[in-house]
This record gives sequence, C-alpha cells and structure tokens, in this order.
Amino acid sequence: MSAWEVTGSIGGVVPAPPCPHLRRLPDRINQRTPTVENLPVEDVLHRFLLERAGVRGTLVRLGPAWHEVAGRADYPPVLHAALGEALAASALLTGNIKLDGTLSIELKSSGALRLLFAECTDQSQLRGLARWNGSLPEPLALDALPDAVMAITIGNVERGQRYQGLVELQHAGLAGSLENYFVQSEQLPARILLAADAGHAVGLMLQKMPDEGGHAAALDDDAWNRIVQLTATLGVEELLGTAPEQLLYRLYHEESVRLFEPRALAFGCSCSRGRVSSMLRSLGRDEVEAALAARGDEIEVICEFCAQRYHFDRIDALHLLSEHAAPGAPDTEQ
Ligand SMILES: [Zn+2]
Repeated sequence: MSAWEVTGSIGGVVPAPPCPHLRRLPDRINQRTPTVENLPVEDVLHRFLLERAGVRGTLVRLGPAWHEVAGRADYPPVLHAALGEALAASALLTGNIKLDGTLSIELKSSGALRLLFAECTDQSQLRGLARWNGSLPEPLALDALPDAVMAITIGNVERGQRYQGLVELQHAGLAGSLENYFVQSEQLPARILLAADAGHAVGLMLQKMPDEGGHAAALDDDAWNRIVQLTATLGVEELLGTAPEQLLYRLYHEESVRLFEPRALAFGCSCSRGRVSSMLRSLGRDEVEAALAARGDEIEVICEFCAQRYHFDRIDALHLLSEHAAPGAPDTEQ
C-alpha cells in the first residue's frame, strides 16, 4: 500500500500545540443568528478536537472559491459535483499537516473523465479543473473508469521535493477512497464526508487521535463509534447548508468541541510567465515555431485554472528557447 516515499505521511503529523488558539464552541448557537457574526462561514477551514472522544477533525466549507473554479468551464453536473468534492478534499487534507508548497489530488483515466485535479497551497489558495471527453457515466463510479489512477501529491516545486501516494479507488467514491487511504496508511480510524452543489463544496474529516505510541487510543472504541454514528445522522443537504460552527454544534455539542482558529481559504492560481515559458520550452523548437506560424508570429497561452493570458512574440519565443531549462521547473500543470 502506498505511503509517502520519504517522510510525508499526510496525517501522521500531530497538530501544533493547541493551547493559545483553542476556544470552546459557545454553549448555545442560535441557528438563525450566529453568536459570533464576524466569523467566516464560507471559504474557511476549521480544525477541531472532540476531547472526550479523543477525535480530531477538520471541516472545510467553500463558497466563492468554489464558484471561481466551477465557473471556468461548463461542467456536466456529475463532474461539477466531483470537482467540488475534490476541491474541498484538497483543502481538507491540509488540515493536520505542516504543508510546505502544495497538496494536490489528481485523478486520470483513459475514459470519458480524463482529468480531475484540485490543489491547495500552503498559502491556503485553491484551484482545480477537470477535463472530459464525451458523455460521462452517471453515477460517476471512479473505480469503473478505465485505467484510472488517483494520486495525492505533496510538494514544493521550487525545491523539487515531492511525496506522492497512490489512492486505491473505491466504489464508494472520492470520500470513501480517501478515507480508505488514510485508514490503510496510518492505521487509524477515519471518516471523510464530501459534498458539493452549485452553492457550496464541503468536506468533513474525522480521525481517531493516536496515543503516545502512535496507535489509536484504545481506551475508548465506544467513543469513536459514537462519533461515527452521530456523523452518520448528517444528510448531504445539512452538510451543504449549515454554517461550520452550527454544524459542529448540532452534531457534537455533547462532546466538548474545541475549535482552533479558523483558516481563511481563497481561490488563487500559481501560474506565472516563468512557468508558461518553461512549458513552451519543454515543447521544443518545432512546436513553438508551429504555434508562432499559426497565429501571426504570436503565441497566446491561456491558463485553464484562472484564465490569465500570456503572450509571446517571436523575439520572446526565440529568447526562451535559447535559455537553459530552469532546474526543477516545469510543473505538469501551469
Ligand atoms: Zn493561472
């Protein structure tokens, strides 16, 4: 089973010492008017502890950042939902690691779904896209896609450090596949829920906390089962339609929920002229010449993630072809 090649077990990193940033959920949250009105309810990542049960969790709720990603293409509904889930998951999986660079989830297949890609950076910037060809099967069973491969990659492009784990695809979908990955690679019980609609993309992850020996705390299997059962009462509409703190209160108010400071998330793209130059250079002279010829001695590259346009005239193009490739430069994505 795939673990990270070097040090990077994704959830194996214990969160930073919690004390200064922890606070309790208010005893009572009015469902219509939140008690703390300036807390973000969209594009936010919450980390929390269920102290009595020995469970840690992360809750991601995306609004505008998801709309930015979803609006880049006319995605078929089934793919729209899968992309939203992947985007929420990419942020969710950064909840319990010290991320340096980016965390990406990438699914490729030779079937109608060609690519599903979502990424979250250490600056809490999210981007994602999907490519497809023809009509997609509904429901979109990931494990039935031909030649499907899904990977989680944690990396720092500048430093050339990348750790990749392959995720076995399960019929239970993206959430079930990721959940299985964590259970297998960390030997700790985990639950992952993902959902997306036109308004929101949401992810909830729970993990039983390890004891000092790194094993799941054995003292309270009942507690884990209790949390799983509480979580199972959550319907998709409730998951999508409820503000984060209200959701945690509704589910776990008898479980001593402790919240860390929330983290703001936002849409953002890491494309740059330098990266596009590297990509063009990797195509080679013949292709660059052909691209110049096709468009009146100009090349236009449009970033699929953010629609940023990059222009290169003949002088630019010849200049970049004469440069040496920057070390570790070309990312597979722009
Ligand atoms: Zn871009």
